[in-house]
Amino acid sequence: MTHVFCVANQKGGVGKTTTAVNLAAGLAKVGKRVLLIDLDPQGNATMGSGVDKRTLERSVYEVLIGSATIPEAAVQAAQLAELGYGYSVLGANRDLAGAEVELVDQQRRERRLRDAIAQVADRYDFILMDSPPSLNLLTLNGLCAAHGVIVPMQCEYFALEGLADLAETIRQVHAQLNRNLRLIGLLRVMFDPRITLQQQVSAQLKAHYGDKVFDTVIPRNVRLAEAPSYGMPGVAFDQLAKGSQAYVAFARELVRRGLRA
Ligand code: ADP
Ligand code: MG
Repeated sequence: MTHVFCVANQKGGVGKTTTAVNLAAGLAKVGKRVLLIDLDPQGNATMGSGVDKRTLERSVYEVLIGSATIPEAAVQAAQLAELGYGYSVLGANRDLAGAEVELVDQQRRERRLRDAIAQVADRYDFILMDSPPSLNLLTLNGLCAAHGVIVPMQCEYFALEGLADLAETIRQVHAQLNRNLRLIGLLRVMFDPRITLQQQVSAQLKAHYGDKVFDTVIPRNVRLAEAPSYGMPGVAFDQLAKGSQAYVAFARELVRRGLRA
């Protein structure tokens, strides 16, 4: 069975893209067949996988408007494949910003991606989606297509409030559009244990969300931030970095949890 996960958080800069690309590479490294779908017009997950968003012939935009299938539009992350971290990328660039407007009058506009994924699901063990920093039609397409949501978050003061909005969106999508959708878990990222506030928010998170909080914690680690400029996820760029090891541990934890579902 294919596991389809959407990495989402309506806040920007919270580690969605970093989580999506590192998870894709981490799962690929343990032999899983992975497709990463970039749903953010900024195309950071595309570039961070070593795929140039400016020269994409086809992208997720064509898939959403129905002029290409996923096999026609997805490309291999070639540099990563050479290193043993290869996965497929359905890329994004600024074209995608137009999709929202173009889809507005279309029927089943929230289900475009789900319909496209249904045709290729058995080709992959995991399909991961990176989403933009808002709860727009692109994110909605991701949530409609997914079995589960992974929420990266920083343990900061307003984090819990933001989570309530996201939880409500997930609840509505579950009720109205996608009965399969559930919250897989909350991933604490950019964590610095020396900061008391982060420890406090982390404890609150555990108290509120219990075992929906992943055991793995991703530390703040500069190697993860440097990796995208080399067109690589951290786990491929510097295997030994603390942040990379944490993402590999997270990939393992997810496989354990995902298979339990
Ligand atoms: P989002 O996709 O939610 O906007 P990103 O994954 O792009 O967030 O992360 C925002 C910034 O933080 C990026 O510059 C990224 O390289 C950096 N970053 C993400 N995770 C970490 C981490 N664990 N340690 C250090 N820097 C990180
Ligand atoms: Mg991003």
